[in-house]
Amino acid sequence: MTATRSDAALLLPDATVRRLLPLARATSGETDATASPLDGSHLADVPQSTLDDVDAAFASARAAQPAWAELGASERGRRLLAFHDLLLAAQAELADVIVAESGKARKDAVEEVFHLAMTARYYGQYAAGFLRPQRRRGVFPGLTRIDVHHHPKGVVSVISPWNYPLTMAMADGLAALAAGNAVVAKPDAQTVLTALAGLELLRRAGVPDDVWQVVTGPGGEIGTALVERGDHVCFTGSTATGRKVGVGAAERLVASSLELGGKNPMVVCADADLDAAVDGALRGCFSNAGQLCVSFERLYVARAVYVDFRDRFVAAVAALELRPGLDWTGEVGTLTSAAQLDKVQAHVEDARAKAATVLVGGRHRPDLAPWSFEPTVLEGVSEDMECFRDETFGPVVSLYPFDTEEEALVLANDSTYGLNAAVWSRDHARARALASRIRCGTVNVNEAIAASFGSLSAPMGGMGQSGLGRRQGPEGLLRFTQVQAVATQRGMGLGAPTGASREKFAEVMTGALKVMRALRL
Ligand code: NAD
Repeated sequence: MTATRSDAALLLPDATVRRLLPLARATSGETDATASPLDGSHLADVPQSTLDDVDAAFASARAAQPAWAELGASERGRRLLAFHDLLLAAQAELADVIVAESGKARKDAVEEVFHLAMTARYYGQYAAGFLRPQRRRGVFPGLTRIDVHHHPKGVVSVISPWNYPLTMAMADGLAALAAGNAVVAKPDAQTVLTALAGLELLRRAGVPDDVWQVVTGPGGEIGTALVERGDHVCFTGSTATGRKVGVGAAERLVASSLELGGKNPMVVCADADLDAAVDGALRGCFSNAGQLCVSFERLYVARAVYVDFRDRFVAAVAALELRPGLDWTGEVGTLTSAAQLDKVQAHVEDARAKAATVLVGGRHRPDLAPWSFEPTVLEGVSEDMECFRDETFGPVVSLYPFDTEEEALVLANDSTYGLNAAVWSRDHARARALASRIRCGTVNVNEAIAASFGSLSAPMGGMGQSGLGRRQGPEGLLRFTQVQAVATQRGMGLGAPTGASREKFAEVMTGALKVMRALRL
């Protein structure tokens, strides 16, 4: 494994930090210091919001939302498309901020910029179509007309994690904006500058200041305040916090969408193109140093090709460039926090102590960055080990052989999570059939993650403990709407006419139902 420390300057220019911080709605006078995972150096003193700030943010967002909705879907779409262009133009500075705050490799940072730009383009182009009123069949066709409308819910709360600090902080909210809502967002405390850099561009694209606001502070206090105020709560983060958020929203009879953790399986069939599968496994396991909700931590490989795959994969992992830094050279960056490092180390040490084999990696690398950890492949992992079922959320993957594809299916489905999976096979039809039986919200055939996640028309989200609701696709926008049916009746009313025989009415009604059944109406 090539592992060097980057020589690039590690800090963001002061001017950038000073420009961005005032965009947060935060008046307490208190600040929270953040440090860069690249070298532990001071990054910013982030102003902290009070509960009064949160109240003020919701009040002004509520006041501004009707005018935003009145603009119409086409004009809102034009502003999202302008945001797309600004994101691409500003990608170098955005990547600097993302890397400085999260410690990820620059290639992973620009992927975030692209994903957010693609989201802006998708909803910019298609939201008007998703929101167009629909005609549906009425109780008596020809006499009853049904129009279905989608109205914005109002102000959407967006609570996001640090791992993909640009796109997780903004992509869901863009769909909410496109549907005519306002947004109050609370990014993770570690990655506020990134969320503000995105906000700056959104405002430049023509989204009014009050329509998207960012508040800051601890999740337990400010995150909870968003759960208590939003008309829909959109949360991305851990399953444990997501459960609390879901309960809080449900108590108010407000819907929540919860994008949570995963323990994602990848299945390599005996007829797979092993070069492609190895390549996909590298991206699928070690993008963002494995701190990716859809990344793979369980690799099931057909016994006939197990040794071949294992040896190629281990060699490829050993050749990965582990180099935290701002420049383009590194393929794998650092973990983002001491807590992440603790969890990853604990999983690897527990597996080692219980006789798993570390095929490659397995070491903390403080010589590269304070929380850097080597991409790690384990073999011989058993049920009693922590990394067997629990999400590691780091660069650690376990290899397991299987004998039949039915067995692979049982193993892949042996998890309370159900977020993402992949199947590798040259027989696309068989692979798709297997994929559809894996209990995960997205399954990629012959690709790790990007085929589904990068296809903005594809709904994305978790089954089981991985969450509720879907982002992306029409589903990702319609969740932020209130659905209304307007029924218009022509001619006769639908009940028994006053004074008519009830028996006669039941007879007529029975005849009508039989006719409609026969005509398949
Ligand atoms: P986390 O749950 O600790 O924090 C996520 C966000 O919630 C942060 O902004 C935090 O401040 C806030 N928060 C904390 N406590 C809160 C509370 N009581 N009420 C409201 N908000 C609160 O998660 P994390 O450790 O930052 O993120 C990592 C987890 O996120 C992993 O499990 C990962 O799989 C998951 N994740 C899922 C997806 C997805 O799309 N499914 C995407 C990215 C990350």
